[in-house]
Amino acid sequence: MADDYYQILGVDRGASAEDVKKAYRKLARKYHPDVNPGNKASEEKFKQVSSAFEVLSDAKKRKLYDEFGPDAEKIGFDEKKAEAYRAYKSAAASGGGAGGMPFGAEGFDLGDLFSDLFGGRGGGGGAGGFDAADMFGRRRASGPERGEDLTARVQLTLNEAVAGTERTLSISRPGRCSACSGRGDSGRMGTCPTCNGTGRPRRAGLFGGSGVCPNCQGTGRAMEPCPQCGGSGIKEETTRLTVKIPAGVQTGSKVRLSGQGAAGPRGGPPGDLYIETEVAEHPLVRREGDDLHIDLPVTVPEAILGADVRVPTFQGEVTVKVPAGSQSGRRMRLKGRGVPSLKGGAPGDFYLHLQVKVPEDASAEARAAAETLSRAYRDDVRRELTL
Ligand SMILES: [Zn+2]
Ligand SMILES: [Zn+2]
Repeated sequence: MADDYYQILGVDRGASAEDVKKAYRKLARKYHPDVNPGNKASEEKFKQVSSAFEVLSDAKKRKLYDEFGPDAEKIGFDEKKAEAYRAYKSAAASGGGAGGMPFGAEGFDLGDLFSDLFGGRGGGGGAGGFDAADMFGRRRASGPERGEDLTARVQLTLNEAVAGTERTLSISRPGRCSACSGRGDSGRMGTCPTCNGTGRPRRAGLFGGSGVCPNCQGTGRAMEPCPQCGGSGIKEETTRLTVKIPAGVQTGSKVRLSGQGAAGPRGGPPGDLYIETEVAEHPLVRREGDDLHIDLPVTVPEAILGADVRVPTFQGEVTVKVPAGSQSGRRMRLKGRGVPSLKGGAPGDFYLHLQVKVPEDASAEARAAAETLSRAYRDDVRRELTL
């Protein structure tokens, strides 16, 4: 049997108490969680070694273990139950009706047997579905599971979204308890908190009816929970993280920081942290996907005569040739000067929308020039304006 306590400690069945102790010390040192931080296999091994020593170092328990094997745990190393077990066994054996052993080492049968024998089933009233479900939920939750994913929001200007940036964030999250390295136990054996040391469920019918506390396998002894985290392996922490925001994000983009989410309960792997970006509206620049649009004011003479005008972009200033005779609303494209592609494709473009500006508070001279200019319109500008 793989989890035979003698095999676990590597001693033979006739080993002296001193040999058992020696073997335990050697293995406990080897597999102690402090020596193997984060190593699940050695943590499991350490628990096995501790359980084996709990039993084999106790002369009374060892005797029952020698007699009943793992079933000794199922009866909680209780001498009275052992007697009843023996009586039941011999009665069943002499009755001989069913052929072969009436109950093997299977926990479920034994659990039924003992709740029948000791009336455990009657006491609890309705060992109803709610309790059972609760217990199964807890049992499932007792193994290491992955921590939750978390989301933090970051506000950016359009300039930052286009260029990419770095932010140092203060993140409050469920972190790994440093006192127990997230294992949740204190490293010391004590009274099993699940069954309060009785080795049996607090209510009959729990633990799938096996009648044995799954936390301590009925021994009543288990690792004491870590006093810092109460056994969860988790403590709230606030940490500062520097986050690299890549160029090209938009509102709703998510940057994943692997393993920076909530710590997993009882040493489980952490979840991820998602940084969700929110890009503020720019007062002058409109964004459409990776393309940017801006109104470019030009003077009446620039529009008539054409001009080289300086235009700011997020990649620096450029000089743009406004063609002679440009109308208001004319669209010009600066290729590749939009937002870089977050997915690694071609960047967007930067569109200029010409806007011809007339002078405010025109002087007499300007008004005379406008009179002259009016003769330049050969046709009615609204000639085609029919609905
Ligand atoms: Zn227990
Ligand atoms: Zn802890």
